[in-house]
Amino acid sequence: MKIIRKIKEMQSHSEHLRLEGKKIGFVPTMGYLHRGHLSLVNAVRPLCDVVVMSIFVNPIQFAPDEDFNSYPRDFKRDKKLAEQSGVDVIFYPSDDEIYKENHLTTVKVKKVTEIMCGESRPTHFEGVTTVVIKLLNIVKPHIAVFGQKDAQQAVVIKKMIEDLNFDIKIIISPLIREKDGLAVSSRNSYLSSDERKDAVVLYKSLMFAKKEIKNGEKSARIIVDKMKGLILKKKSVKLEYIYITDPNTLDKVDPIDRKVLIAIAAYVGKTRLIDNIIV
Ligand code: AMP
Repeated sequence: MKIIRKIKEMQSHSEHLRLEGKKIGFVPTMGYLHRGHLSLVNAVRPLCDVVVMSIFVNPIQFAPDEDFNSYPRDFKRDKKLAEQSGVDVIFYPSDDEIYKENHLTTVKVKKVTEIMCGESRPTHFEGVTTVVIKLLNIVKPHIAVFGQKDAQQAVVIKKMIEDLNFDIKIIISPLIREKDGLAVSSRNSYLSSDERKDAVVLYKSLMFAKKEIKNGEKSARIIVDKMKGLILKKKSVKLEYIYITDPNTLDKVDPIDRKVLIAIAAYVGKTRLIDNIIV
């Protein structure tokens, strides 16, 4: 497995692979790898000749009061896990390599970034789309894979790729969960053991909503109210939002008359977690 830290070297490596007719699959991550990340590698590997993973904790997608500095990092461990799962190249740049002192350009997707996570994190998605576009220009993949765990991010990135005519296939890979249902996340490492137990209520409330819909409940408002009731019972959990939306446009759906995305964001203690299902 190759480790590349410089943009120019990554670009010329990818250019060579392309000239040799090799198909490049790309898995962007912020590292501290877990089964969710590795499932993305597994999803893209059969579709390409070379798997490139980036590990970069992107400073511009964090607001000043968020957890950029404390975000978990362990490159030695990541390197081992990536190699075991069949990654061919890790692109692991420094912050200065990605954002030169005079960096002035950002990429912004409108509308779908202004709701849900965009309400409490108004600069987040601009940070995400800017770094993703930069990484795509550096890694030059044919295919890039993102997780359904970040359902809104997946919609935003697909829209950007479509609007800017990028000739790259985007794959959205299923959400990976712990045995008790909690969505696997690097941020789960912040949870105390009591918070870890309480955190499962997010998944449970989603399963409850799914059951309600299957039993014929059509009112999104009633379902959201009942979910809130369940979540409020857990002391350490503070709900930020529950949205029931169209999975592609993120437009609110009420009454529920089609396939919907049910998405939650909540603080468990000081840790902000997100989860979702499609019903
Ligand atoms: P992150 O390192 O958190 O930025 O995540 C990198 C990629 O892994 C994103 O496309 C995420 O959606 C995806 N990912 C993170 N957690 C999971 C999970 N539990 N299941 C599936 N994909 C995930």
